[in-house]
Amino acid sequence: MSYIETTDPELFSILNREINREESTLELIASENFTSPAILEMAGGVMTNKYAEGYPGKRYYGGCEHVDEAEELARDRLKALFNCQYANVQPHSGSQANMAALMTFLEPGDTVLGLDLSHGGHLTHGSLVNFSGQLYNFISYHVSQESGRVDFDEVNQLAKKHKPKLIVCGGSAYPRFIEFAQFREVADKVGAFLMADIAHPSGLVAAGVHPSPMNYSHVVTSTTHKTLRGPRGGIIMMGKDFENTWGKVVPKSGRVKNVSELVDSTVMPGIQGGPLMHIIAAKAIAFGEALKPDFKKYAIQTVENAKYMADLFLELDYNLISGGTDTHVILINLSNKNITGKQAEISLGHAGMTVNKNMVPFDERSPFITSGIRVGTPAVTTRGMGKHEIKNIVHWIDDAINSFDNIAKLTKIKTEINSLCESFPIYPHLAH
Ligand SMILES: *Cc1c(COP(=O)(O)O)cnc(C)c1O
Repeated sequence: MSYIETTDPELFSILNREINREESTLELIASENFTSPAILEMAGGVMTNKYAEGYPGKRYYGGCEHVDEAEELARDRLKALFNCQYANVQPHSGSQANMAALMTFLEPGDTVLGLDLSHGGHLTHGSLVNFSGQLYNFISYHVSQESGRVDFDEVNQLAKKHKPKLIVCGGSAYPRFIEFAQFREVADKVGAFLMADIAHPSGLVAAGVHPSPMNYSHVVTSTTHKTLRGPRGGIIMMGKDFENTWGKVVPKSGRVKNVSELVDSTVMPGIQGGPLMHIIAAKAIAFGEALKPDFKKYAIQTVENAKYMADLFLELDYNLISGGTDTHVILINLSNKNITGKQAEISLGHAGMTVNKNMVPFDERSPFITSGIRVGTPAVTTRGMGKHEIKNIVHWIDDAINSFDNIAKLTKIKTEINSLCESFPIYPHLAH
């Protein structure tokens, strides 16, 4: 029984069209995933009604005894998952987590190093259309043209020359392991803080199939909805010796006594008001799921699927940035295939596959056209797909790229994909 169906048929049919889209197409956007039905239930639950500004035990509102339990559980599970000492589960999104982390460690105008957006970075790593590029003096580092990996000669040079107060590592379209140890070495040479943004690989880190940033970074941020497979949101973590950074951080308020209090207060009241308690409780469920052995199997399969996919693309003469992947992300330069990223995204969309166009390093096309696409395996792996399906998917992608102007062909692929998707239902309880 649906309440929406009776009270708002208009939204009911929009919701159903979205359910059908998710069920009947192949989700290959590297930053997307499908949460469990339990997480959906909690995210749609009554905790959305509760105001709880503050932190467990120190709220500005009454009636917080149960949401306090949920937030404490979320923090404890998150600490167990990443083996960290400090956790804040309140950021509404990955961008909010980054804003709070940057505002904790920096003053406006401070110099920061971050990976260039067109080389795989993120808007919050210094883009001029984002608060990060407007508030701070971000200097971009890049990947090397030959290897497609971070150019540490350049990172070292930039660090020596600009003496950044903080270095951000991590990105949105970086297919390889983030080089935490190497970044920390550079940071130590110039006395900079290291911030690891693991928004993309955090699920892989939690499962132990990607190195952990915890022993190398002064602060770690992430989303909860990408490979971590939770509800849409953000988190901030710190490892074991974070309080040693206190002497170098200028307190923004006389009320705080240490770094953890400073991060807490930068999140709320600094940049947010009331926390989304329904989402925080849903994050707790997600962290609980990620602590179970099945999640490790999932993460291993996600990476195996991506590596197998990369091998098949290479056989078909696709040009992969960095020549492959260590993670769930594949970045393809389509320049040798006579198609732009934009055309490929549209063509694959007609064929029932969702990807995003993406700039490739040293791209000569604009961000609205691009020369590449980014492909990811987290969502199809959640559906239970393995090698056999990945092989079909690569051939469908290749066909759709080679026949991008042949609507009949694309429609035929879409029919095949619809029938594959029927064998891998996501939310059977939502079928109607
Ligand atoms: C996705 C992402 C973010 C931001 O997450 P939102 O929840 O979309 O704000 C931040 N950093 C990186 C590297 C990301 O990939």
